[in-house]
Amino acid sequence: CGIMGYIGAKPSERIIVEGLRKLEYRGYDSAGIAVCTDSGMKVVKAKGRIKELENRLNGHDLATGTVGIGHTRWATHGKPSDENSHPHTDGQMKVSVVHNGIIENYMELKKELEETGVRFVSETDTEVISHLIASEYEGDIVRAVQRATARMRGAYALAVLSEQEPDKLIAARLHSPLIIGLGDGEHFIGSDIPAILEHTRDVYILDDGEMAVLTRDAVELMTIEGNPIAKEPFRVNWDL
Ligand code: GLU
Repeated sequence: CGIMGYIGAKPSERIIVEGLRKLEYRGYDSAGIAVCTDSGMKVVKAKGRIKELENRLNGHDLATGTVGIGHTRWATHGKPSDENSHPHTDGQMKVSVVHNGIIENYMELKKELEETGVRFVSETDTEVISHLIASEYEGDIVRAVQRATARMRGAYALAVLSEQEPDKLIAARLHSPLIIGLGDGEHFIGSDIPAILEHTRDVYILDDGEMAVLTRDAVELMTIEGNPIAKEPFRVNWDL
Protein backbone atom coordinates (compact mmCIF):
# COMPACT_ATOMS: atom_id res chain seq x y z
CA CYS A 1 0.00 0.00 0.00
CA GLY A 2 2.74 2.47 0.99
CA ILE A 3 6.32 2.34 -0.30
CA MET A 4 9.39 4.27 0.86
CA GLY A 5 12.97 3.75 -0.26
CA TYR A 6 16.20 5.59 0.54
CA ILE A 7 19.78 5.60 -0.71
CA GLY A 8 22.19 8.23 0.59
CA ALA A 9 24.69 8.97 3.33
CA LYS A 10 22.38 8.96 6.33
CA PRO A 11 21.16 5.95 8.32
CA SER A 12 18.17 4.79 6.31
CA GLU A 13 16.04 3.22 9.05
CA ARG A 14 14.62 6.46 10.54
CA ILE A 15 14.05 8.06 7.15
CA ILE A 16 12.13 5.05 5.89
CA VAL A 17 9.99 4.63 9.01
CA GLU A 18 9.16 8.36 9.01
CA GLY A 19 8.27 8.15 5.32
CA LEU A 20 5.93 5.23 6.02
CA ARG A 21 4.25 7.29 8.74
CA LYS A 22 3.48 10.02 6.21
CA LEU A 23 1.67 7.37 4.17
CA GLU A 24 -0.43 6.10 7.08
CA TYR A 25 -3.48 7.86 5.66
CA ARG A 26 -3.62 5.22 2.92
CA GLY A 27 -4.53 2.57 5.52
CA TYR A 28 -2.52 -0.61 6.20
CA ASP A 29 -2.42 -3.77 8.27
CA SER A 30 1.33 -4.39 8.64
CA ALA A 31 4.68 -2.77 8.00
CA GLY A 32 8.27 -3.77 7.33
CA ILE A 33 11.70 -2.60 6.30
CA ALA A 34 14.85 -4.05 4.68
CA VAL A 35 18.24 -2.38 5.04
CA CYS A 36 21.67 -3.35 3.69
CA THR A 37 24.02 -3.03 6.68
CA ASP A 38 27.75 -3.71 7.13
CA SER A 39 26.76 -7.24 8.14
CA GLY A 40 24.42 -7.94 5.24
CA MET A 41 20.78 -7.39 4.48
CA LYS A 42 18.43 -7.21 7.46
CA VAL A 43 14.64 -7.48 7.25
CA VAL A 44 12.33 -6.53 10.11
CA LYS A 45 8.55 -6.64 9.80
CA ALA A 46 5.46 -6.80 11.95
CA LYS A 47 1.73 -7.15 11.67
CA GLY A 48 -0.12 -4.12 12.99
CA ARG A 49 0.73 -0.46 13.36
CA ILE A 50 4.09 1.14 12.56
CA LYS A 51 4.59 1.29 16.35
CA GLU A 52 4.79 -2.55 16.38
CA LEU A 53 7.50 -2.38 13.73
CA GLU A 54 9.38 0.25 15.73
CA ASN A 55 9.23 -1.89 18.88
CA ARG A 56 10.70 -4.76 16.95
CA LEU A 57 13.37 -2.51 15.37
CA ASN A 58 14.64 -1.71 18.87
CA GLY A 59 16.07 -5.20 19.03
CA HIS A 60 18.02 -4.80 15.78
CA ASP A 61 20.98 -2.70 14.82
CA LEU A 62 20.44 -1.29 11.35
CA ALA A 63 22.44 1.87 12.05
CA THR A 64 25.22 1.15 9.55
CA GLY A 65 22.74 0.86 6.70
CA THR A 66 22.32 3.84 4.38
CA VAL A 67 20.18 2.09 1.79
CA GLY A 68 16.84 0.43 2.35
CA ILE A 69 13.19 -0.03 1.48
CA GLY A 70 10.01 -0.09 3.54
CA HIS A 71 6.34 -0.91 3.12
CA THR A 72 2.95 -0.62 4.72
CA ARG A 73 0.73 -3.44 3.50
CA TRP A 74 -2.93 -3.57 2.67
CA ALA A 75 -3.38 -7.32 2.26
CA THR A 76 -4.88 -8.64 -0.95
CA HIS A 77 -3.38 -12.16 -1.06
CA GLY A 78 -2.84 -13.80 2.32
CA LYS A 79 -4.05 -12.59 5.70
CA PRO A 80 -2.29 -9.83 7.63
CA SER A 81 0.57 -11.57 9.49
CA ASP A 82 4.28 -11.15 10.18
CA GLU A 83 5.15 -13.68 7.43
CA ASN A 84 2.93 -12.04 4.82
CA SER A 85 4.27 -8.55 5.56
CA HIS A 86 6.71 -7.01 3.11
CA PRO A 87 9.63 -6.85 2.35
CA HIS A 88 9.73 -10.35 0.86
CA THR A 89 13.05 -12.01 0.12
CA ASP A 90 14.42 -14.89 -1.91
CA GLY A 91 15.06 -16.89 1.26
CA GLN A 92 18.84 -16.36 1.01
CA MET A 93 18.46 -12.67 1.91
CA LYS A 94 20.09 -11.67 -1.37
CA VAL A 95 17.10 -9.76 -2.73
CA SER A 96 14.24 -8.01 -0.99
CA VAL A 97 11.15 -6.51 -2.53
CA VAL A 98 8.26 -4.30 -1.49
CA HIS A 99 5.22 -4.25 -3.74
CA ASN A 100 1.92 -2.46 -4.16
CA GLY A 101 -0.64 -4.07 -6.42
CA ILE A 102 -1.52 -7.59 -7.50
CA ILE A 103 0.43 -10.09 -9.60
CA GLU A 104 -2.31 -11.83 -11.52
CA ASN A 105 -0.26 -14.80 -12.72
CA TYR A 106 1.44 -15.43 -9.38
CA MET A 107 0.00 -18.97 -9.05
CA GLU A 108 1.62 -20.07 -12.32
CA LEU A 109 4.92 -18.45 -11.41
CA LYS A 110 4.83 -19.90 -7.91
CA LYS A 111 4.22 -23.40 -9.22
CA GLU A 112 7.05 -23.08 -11.70
CA LEU A 113 9.47 -21.80 -9.04
CA GLU A 114 8.42 -24.53 -6.59
CA GLU A 115 9.21 -27.12 -9.23
CA THR A 116 12.76 -25.81 -9.30
CA GLY A 117 13.02 -26.30 -5.53
CA VAL A 118 12.09 -22.81 -4.29
CA ARG A 119 10.36 -22.84 -0.91
CA PHE A 120 7.77 -20.16 -0.17
CA VAL A 121 7.22 -18.85 3.35
CA SER A 122 4.23 -16.55 2.76
CA GLU A 123 0.82 -16.69 1.09
CA THR A 124 1.36 -13.50 -0.87
CA ASP A 125 1.52 -12.88 -4.57
CA THR A 126 4.49 -10.60 -3.85
CA GLU A 127 6.83 -13.38 -2.73
CA VAL A 128 6.99 -14.70 -6.31
CA ILE A 129 8.63 -11.41 -7.32
CA SER A 130 11.60 -11.75 -4.96
CA HIS A 131 12.16 -15.40 -5.96
CA LEU A 132 11.75 -14.60 -9.65
CA ILE A 133 14.32 -11.80 -9.46
CA ALA A 134 16.75 -14.08 -7.59
CA SER A 135 16.27 -16.85 -10.14
CA GLU A 136 16.92 -14.39 -12.99
CA TYR A 137 20.03 -12.95 -11.30
CA GLU A 138 23.24 -13.46 -13.22
CA GLY A 139 25.36 -10.69 -11.72
CA ASP A 140 23.26 -7.69 -12.79
CA ILE A 141 20.29 -6.75 -10.61
CA VAL A 142 18.88 -4.31 -13.18
CA ARG A 143 18.72 -7.04 -15.82
CA ALA A 144 17.28 -9.49 -13.29
CA VAL A 145 14.44 -7.07 -12.45
CA GLN A 146 13.81 -6.52 -16.17
CA ARG A 147 13.63 -10.24 -16.86
CA ALA A 148 11.39 -10.81 -13.84
CA THR A 149 8.97 -8.00 -14.66
CA ALA A 150 8.72 -9.25 -18.25
CA ARG A 151 7.12 -12.41 -16.81
CA MET A 152 4.72 -10.67 -14.43
CA ARG A 153 1.13 -9.74 -15.31
CA GLY A 154 -1.04 -7.44 -13.25
CA ALA A 155 -0.21 -4.29 -11.33
CA TYR A 156 2.88 -3.33 -9.45
CA ALA A 157 4.84 -0.54 -7.89
CA LEU A 158 8.11 -2.14 -6.78
CA ALA A 159 11.21 -1.21 -4.86
CA VAL A 160 14.04 -3.73 -4.96
CA LEU A 161 17.17 -4.02 -2.81
CA SER A 162 20.03 -6.40 -3.57
CA GLU A 163 22.67 -7.48 -1.08
CA GLN A 164 25.11 -8.17 -3.91
CA GLU A 165 24.68 -4.64 -5.30
CA PRO A 166 23.98 -2.53 -2.22
CA ASP A 167 24.85 0.73 -3.95
CA LYS A 168 21.67 0.61 -6.02
CA LEU A 169 17.95 0.76 -5.47
CA ILE A 170 15.55 -0.20 -8.22
CA ALA A 171 12.01 1.05 -8.76
CA ALA A 172 9.51 -0.17 -11.36
CA ARG A 173 5.90 0.65 -12.05
CA LEU A 174 2.92 -0.77 -13.90
CA HIS A 175 -0.63 0.38 -13.05
CA SER A 176 0.32 1.46 -9.52
CA PRO A 177 1.82 4.86 -8.69
CA LEU A 178 5.50 5.40 -7.88
CA ILE A 179 7.70 8.48 -7.68
CA ILE A 180 11.42 9.14 -7.34
CA GLY A 181 12.66 11.96 -5.09
CA LEU A 182 15.83 13.79 -6.10
CA GLY A 183 18.14 14.99 -3.36
CA ASP A 184 21.77 16.01 -3.05
CA GLY A 185 23.79 12.81 -2.70
CA GLU A 186 20.62 10.96 -1.79
CA HIS A 187 17.57 9.67 -3.62
CA PHE A 188 14.16 8.39 -2.60
CA ILE A 189 11.40 6.11 -3.79
CA GLY A 190 7.83 6.80 -2.68
CA SER A 191 4.41 5.51 -3.54
CA ASP A 192 3.19 9.05 -3.02
CA ILE A 193 4.69 12.53 -2.64
CA PRO A 194 4.00 12.99 1.13
CA ALA A 195 6.49 10.18 1.89
CA ILE A 196 9.42 12.23 0.63
CA LEU A 197 8.26 15.85 0.82
CA GLU A 198 10.28 16.70 3.91
CA HIS A 199 13.45 15.75 2.00
CA THR A 200 12.92 17.13 -1.49
CA ARG A 201 10.44 18.83 -3.82
CA ASP A 202 12.02 17.58 -7.02
CA VAL A 203 10.55 14.34 -8.24
CA TYR A 204 10.27 12.11 -11.24
CA ILE A 205 6.80 10.68 -11.63
CA LEU A 206 7.18 7.24 -13.17
CA ASP A 207 4.72 6.23 -15.87
CA ASP A 208 3.49 2.72 -16.58
CA GLY A 209 6.21 0.46 -17.88
CA GLU A 210 9.03 2.61 -16.53
CA MET A 211 11.79 1.84 -14.09
CA ALA A 212 14.49 3.79 -12.28
CA VAL A 213 17.92 2.81 -11.03
CA LEU A 214 18.94 4.96 -8.07
CA THR A 215 22.48 5.38 -6.80
CA ARG A 216 23.64 8.01 -4.32
CA ASP A 217 24.75 10.31 -7.13
CA ALA A 218 22.37 9.62 -9.99
CA VAL A 219 18.99 8.38 -11.11
CA GLU A 220 18.80 6.54 -14.41
CA LEU A 221 15.39 6.18 -16.04
CA MET A 222 14.49 3.47 -18.52
CA THR A 223 11.62 1.35 -19.69
CA ILE A 224 11.25 -2.06 -18.10
CA GLU A 225 12.61 -3.40 -21.39
CA GLY A 226 15.78 -1.42 -20.70
CA ASN A 227 15.46 1.43 -23.21
CA PRO A 228 16.75 4.70 -21.74
CA ILE A 229 14.21 7.50 -21.29
CA ALA A 230 14.55 11.17 -20.48
CA LYS A 231 12.03 13.16 -18.50
CA GLU A 232 11.90 16.47 -16.71
CA PRO A 233 11.70 16.48 -12.92
CA PHE A 234 8.45 17.78 -11.51
CA ARG A 235 8.63 20.50 -8.86
CA VAL A 236 6.15 20.03 -5.99
CA ASN A 237 4.86 23.47 -4.99
CA TRP A 238 2.43 22.50 -2.24
CA ASP A 239 2.86 21.60 1.41
CA LEU A 240 1.39 18.90 3.59
N1 GLU B 1 -0.73 -7.96 -3.16
C1 GLU B 1 0.25 -7.66 -2.17
C2 GLU B 1 -0.07 -8.34 -0.86
O1 GLU B 1 -1.17 -8.75 -0.63
C3 GLU B 1 0.45 -6.14 -1.98
C4 GLU B 1 -0.66 -5.47 -1.22
C5 GLU B 1 -0.46 -3.96 -1.11
O2 GLU B 1 -0.61 -3.27 -2.14
O3 GLU B 1 -0.18 -3.47 0.01
O4 GLU B 1 0.78 -8.49 -0.03
